Parts: sequence; C-alpha cells; structure tokens
Amino acid sequence: MEHCSTKAEIRALVLKWKKDGLKVGFVPTMGALHAGHLSLMRAAKKDCDRLVVSIYVNPTQFDRKDDLDAYPHDLEGDKAKLESVNCDALFTIDNSAMYPEDFTTWVIPEGSLVAGLCGKSRGEHFKGVTTIVTKLFNIVGADKAFFGQKDYQQFAIIQRMVRDLDIPIEVQSCPTVREADGLALSSRNQLLESDARQRSLAIAKSLSWAVQAYRSGQTEASAVLEEMTQRIQDAGAKIDYIEAVDCESLLAKETLDDRSVIAVAAFFGSVRLIDNHRLKDDFPIEFP
Ligand code: AMP
Repeated sequence: MEHCSTKAEIRALVLKWKKDGLKVGFVPTMGALHAGHLSLMRAAKKDCDRLVVSIYVNPTQFDRKDDLDAYPHDLEGDKAKLESVNCDALFTIDNSAMYPEDFTTWVIPEGSLVAGLCGKSRGEHFKGVTTIVTKLFNIVGADKAFFGQKDYQQFAIIQRMVRDLDIPIEVQSCPTVREADGLALSSRNQLLESDARQRSLAIAKSLSWAVQAYRSGQTEASAVLEEMTQRIQDAGAKIDYIEAVDCESLLAKETLDDRSVIAVAAFFGSVRLIDNHRLKDDFPIEFP
C-alpha cells in the first residue's frame, strides 16, 4: 500500500492509474477503523480496480471541541486493517494543508435535507462535511466513492451535492454493519464505559421494535416515536432526536410508509450515538 501525505502525491498516483484505464474507488474516513469502514472498502475493491482510503479527522465538522479532542486515533492499527483489505493507497494530510489560515470558501447545504435530524442540533456540522468531502473529491479525483447508511443524512446530502454541483464522481451507500448484539459499529463506541455500552443497545432494539410495530400495522409516527423515546430514555440516555422522515427529502412523516426512515441520536454520558433504519427492510438482528 502506498501512503501519500500530500495533495500532489495522491493526485499524481490516481492520475497515473486513470491513464492506465483503471477505475478508482474512494472511501473517506476519520480513522479508528472498524468492520463498518472495512465493509465499504471491500465493496469498493469489488467494484473498482484501485482503492484509495483517506484518514482525516476534519475539525470543521465538529461542533464541540471536547468531542474533537476525544476522537480516537490509531494510525498504525488502521494501516494494518487497510493492508488486510488490500487497500492500494492511504491518503493523510495536515490541518494546515487542508485549511490554510486565510481559508474562505465553503460548500453550504440548505433546505429540507439539513433542516432536521443532525442538522437541527449540530449547527454547522454539515457545512464542514460537504466542504471536506468536496475538497477530498477534488484532491483524489476518484471515479466512485462509498459511504455508510449508518450516516443516512450525510449520504443523502452528499448525493444531492454531487448532483447539484455536477461533481464528476459516482456515489454509493452500503449497509450498516453491526455488532453481533445489534449495536451499530462506530469509532465512538470505544469511548463507551461497559455499562453504557450495554445500555446503548436500547437504540438498536427500539429501531427493531419500530420495524416490527410498522409491520404489524402501526402507521402513526407519533405513537412509534413516543414508545421509542420511552425505551431509550429508560436505558438512561439523553435523546437528541428521534424522527421518522422520508428516505429522499428527509421531511418529517406523520404517517409511516415503506419510504420512511427512522433515525435516532442519543447521548450515553458524553458519547453521542446515531443509528437509523428503513421501515421497509427487515432489521438485521433478532431481539428476544
Ligand atoms: P467516519 O470515519 O465516521 O467518518 O466514517 C467513514 C465512513 O464509514 C462513512 O461513510 C460512514 O457512514 C461509514 N460507516 C461508519 N460506521 C459504519 C457502519 N457501522 N457500517 C457501515 N458504514 C459505516
């Protein structure tokens, strides 16, 4: 695996591959890699001839300094995981090269895609995400990028951005990877104390319950969201949001249907976890 730590190096490498007629896949990450990240890389390796992975903890998408400071780093461990999926190139870069002091130009999403869910509580978060993803797309120049459904709103916004700004890249989303007990994998899970780790299962369990309730005929969103709220609060979490939204517009739904996605964000102590599920799909884990 090549390790490029400047924009010029990764650009030259990808350009060379493309000149040779190779299709280049790209998985942007913030590191502390887990099986969820690796599943995106495997999907990219299947679909493309070469895989570039970026590891960059983007400061402009964090709205709390303590959250940025606590974000886990493990570059050596990450490199071994990248080798295990036959990644062809790792791209890392310094903050000063990404955001020079006189940095001025941002990509700012507006409208229904950013109005609800994480957009409500995390202020400028998506402005940071769309700006860094645009920069990474421009720097790497890949043919196709892969994202996780776990960050459902993020993918919806990036997909729209690529269309709206005519960015010449294809984007694909891949299913959420979970622990055997249902917890969605996240780099933040390692920050959970063991008691909170156990209690945090309430998120996945309540999503699974919502899918079952919908399948049994419950279509009143408020009833489903209230019961989920109760279950997650009973596990000791502070809820940021629980919403039922349309899978494309992300507008809130009053009546649930097959296009509905239920999305949750909740704090277990200081750790904020997110998860979501589309109602038309089976929840992948059976809970007793
Ligand atoms: P992050 O490092 O958190 O920025 O995530 C990098 C990519 O991995 C994003 O596209 C995420 O949606 C994706 N991802 C994170 N967790 C999971 C998961 N449990 N399953 C699938 N993809 C994931």
